[in-house]
Amino acid sequence: MRTTLTAPEAILDVAIQGRRISAAEALVILEQAELPDLAVAATVVRDRHNDSRRVSYVIDRNVNYTDVCNVYCTFCAFYHKPGDSRGYVLTREQLQQKAEETKAIGGTGFLLQGGVNPDLPWSYYLDLVRYLHRDLGIWVHGFSPVEIQMMAKLSCQSLRTTIADLREAGLGSIPGGGAEILVDRIRRKISPLKGGREKWLEVMEAAHEEGVKTTGTMMFGITETLAERIEHLEVLRDQQDRALVRNNGGGYTAFVAWPFQSGHTPWEGKVPKPTDVEYLRTIAVARIFLDNFAHIQSSWVTMGRKTGQLALHYGCDDMGSLMLEENVVSAAGTCYSVNNDEMTRMIRAAGYEPWQRDNIYGEVLS
Ligand code: SF4
Repeated sequence: MRTTLTAPEAILDVAIQGRRISAAEALVILEQAELPDLAVAATVVRDRHNDSRRVSYVIDRNVNYTDVCNVYCTFCAFYHKPGDSRGYVLTREQLQQKAEETKAIGGTGFLLQGGVNPDLPWSYYLDLVRYLHRDLGIWVHGFSPVEIQMMAKLSCQSLRTTIADLREAGLGSIPGGGAEILVDRIRRKISPLKGGREKWLEVMEAAHEEGVKTTGTMMFGITETLAERIEHLEVLRDQQDRALVRNNGGGYTAFVAWPFQSGHTPWEGKVPKPTDVEYLRTIAVARIFLDNFAHIQSSWVTMGRKTGQLALHYGCDDMGSLMLEENVVSAAGTCYSVNNDEMTRMIRAAGYEPWQRDNIYGEVLS
């Protein structure tokens, strides 16, 4: 065990040499390192995991099968309460149309998430996944941990059995939505009905134990301290260590962080939106600290195209999705989307060769 370093330059040197930095050291560089130094170190770590010349992206569609939700997160501008006539559940015809539109532009999958709709039975989810995967040929990257917790209750099964059933029906991978900040002090404030961080982590652990791939996320800038931001990264890194030891195909494929969008929520005007510099610092430190994650996504959807491109020089190797459809962030007033040509132009203009991936980072050959 080496002594904790306190000089940011020395800590970045450790990362550049390929050694792991501690949580305390990650906090030092998040607070004190020079921005260009973070960019250099994050790029070295990025290139250790990825081809230094290429940046990936995915053509998929964010499909919110229902907006009815009884979790009432205070930061969410998307949901309708159960019983509200404005709430919806997508029909088969709507799903089919979305699948056809996605495939028509070379898309491969749905990022499928709800609300937590108390009116839908367990069989609904299995039928939904079967329909999308088997009948429509769509990769289902689906259901955030809070939805899977609810399904486990509905089916009276363990999380592992619930996930195994979903996978048997055609679930491909699980997005890490709803992590927000994995610190209970924050979760009690912003999403008290979602449960503490253990609730989120236990779904991810069960998925990894079942050999299912997931993503890790962080929504920051919602009154957490910088130390709490690092605490969040640390629990993800620890969990990925366990997944890699298991070596069963399960684990995190990627990490994505985005700043909280407070528009149209009770938080509007109460918390400042993180600046571009704060975003770049956070994503660079995440790249350096999460030394066991292969991929880091740029969140151009929330940060805008220019900052999204800049993030590629702060450790990101992936531009995420075209955002053919996005309901949750756009409900909070942020709305960006691009077509395939614009995406590849964006990546080339940032100095990289684009390549299209699927939801688990396999190459899509056209
Ligand atoms: S963030 Fe998700 S769980 Fe929370 S209220 Fe919105 S739809 Fe429901």
